[in-house]
Amino acid sequence: SLEMMKKTIVIYPSPLVGHLISMVELGKLILSHYPSYTITILITTMNPKTTSQTTPYINRISNTTPSVVFHHLPTQELEKSQTIFEYIHQNNPLVRDSLDFISQSHKICSFIFDMFCSASLEVTNQLQIASYFFNTSGVNAFTVLLHLPTLNNSRKSVEHDDDTHLEIPGLPPILSTDLPSSSLNPKDASHEPFMFISKTAVQAKGIIVNSFDWLESRAVKAIRGGLCNTNSVVPPLYPVGPLIAEPAASDETCECFTWLDKQPRESVVFLCFGSGGVFSRDQLNEIAVGLERSGKRFLWVVRVARPKDKNEQSLASPEPSLDELLPEGFLERTRERGLVVKNWASQVDVLNRESVGGFVTHCGWNSILESVCAGVPMIAWPLYAEQRVNRVALVKEMKLSLWLNESENGVVTAAEFEERVNTLMDSEEGMALKERVKVARDEAKLALGDGGSTRSALTELVESWHHQ
Ligand code: UDP
Repeated sequence: SLEMMKKTIVIYPSPLVGHLISMVELGKLILSHYPSYTITILITTMNPKTTSQTTPYINRISNTTPSVVFHHLPTQELEKSQTIFEYIHQNNPLVRDSLDFISQSHKICSFIFDMFCSASLEVTNQLQIASYFFNTSGVNAFTVLLHLPTLNNSRKSVEHDDDTHLEIPGLPPILSTDLPSSSLNPKDASHEPFMFISKTAVQAKGIIVNSFDWLESRAVKAIRGGLCNTNSVVPPLYPVGPLIAEPAASDETCECFTWLDKQPRESVVFLCFGSGGVFSRDQLNEIAVGLERSGKRFLWVVRVARPKDKNEQSLASPEPSLDELLPEGFLERTRERGLVVKNWASQVDVLNRESVGGFVTHCGWNSILESVCAGVPMIAWPLYAEQRVNRVALVKEMKLSLWLNESENGVVTAAEFEERVNTLMDSEEGMALKERVKVARDEAKLALGDGGSTRSALTELVESWHHQ
């Protein structure tokens, strides 16, 4: 009977590594306090790039945490011009089949989806499963998302390109150009999908955010106070973070760890730009020159752009080598104090090495949380998605990072880069940031501990599943 069935929580992340990890970590957090549940993660694949980034993590969790079960949806062919929104929408019948299948052996107590999977709410509403929106970014960014309908209604002639100061409740003043380009421009291909996401979020039974009260208290208060959305009542907000990947076991093989462990305490600047950050050759050159002139130790992850069309990616044109990508002689000249790694290094493990003293980040939300939890101060260099919003919050509100200026053509010059790195690594301003980020790290621990804000949000969330 239903009473005898195991209870499960179904979690549906979009196939992006930053989304998958935080949502699986939510599952693990639930299990650690409420072991009578099982966690079912619906996995959908999209393309070889995202799969190559997510597979190692899925394998690791499968080996270490058997009560997290991965349920793979059948793979659909991703058509050439298809967006992630269309792809996920097309998955709906598969989601429905999977939920029917899971419910033969489990009582599904709730369903948790991220923003790109918003279309699935249609399915779970039909099945009357209590469904929660999981916001993989910060509360500040979520405030912008909630505010989209209001911003677009009240907008007279605010174009995205104008440097208009916007007043969004809970946020420091922000320029319209700091919002994702889809936010205010109805012609942008992602505008409608994001308006849809904004409307879906408030229809969910609750909103789970990967953050904690202390870190974003003003935005949390604004949302709870009903200031952020004038059209609808916002459902309860559950800040249950920070949810980040655990550092891996000591069997790390990347040469960078051996190297890092030989460097002095807090002496190394770490540069890493998320799952998608790639730079032009000119920009790589500016970074290299700036780094070289700064004289600082560094570990730099350089990602090589993949050809857009996978058919173009033939064996005949292999990825360029680091020597080809970077200025001539750079690797040789900086050999004593720097290391460049191609494509990927396990970021959580790097950030937790004693020798790392600063982090140049693309302001992906997971990266920010990982840096906070490791107590590493940052230099903010946003590249895509909502990262410019994150930079405003990180620098102006949380005060955990330096601001990096782009020049008019969007390039960060060697001189600017050199100056920021030196400020972070040896100035009073840098010291102050370092101290504050350690306070933030301790607050994160408190939030997760007994009586902490995260723990009580988690309790409330789980209790909301009982009152159905
Ligand atoms: N990451 C990593 N090594 C890399 C690049 C990224 O381990 O070389 C991880 C990083 O630790 C984070 C995730 O990939 O957990 C990226 O998520 P984030 O939200 O920072 O950025 P996104 O990739 O979504 O833009």
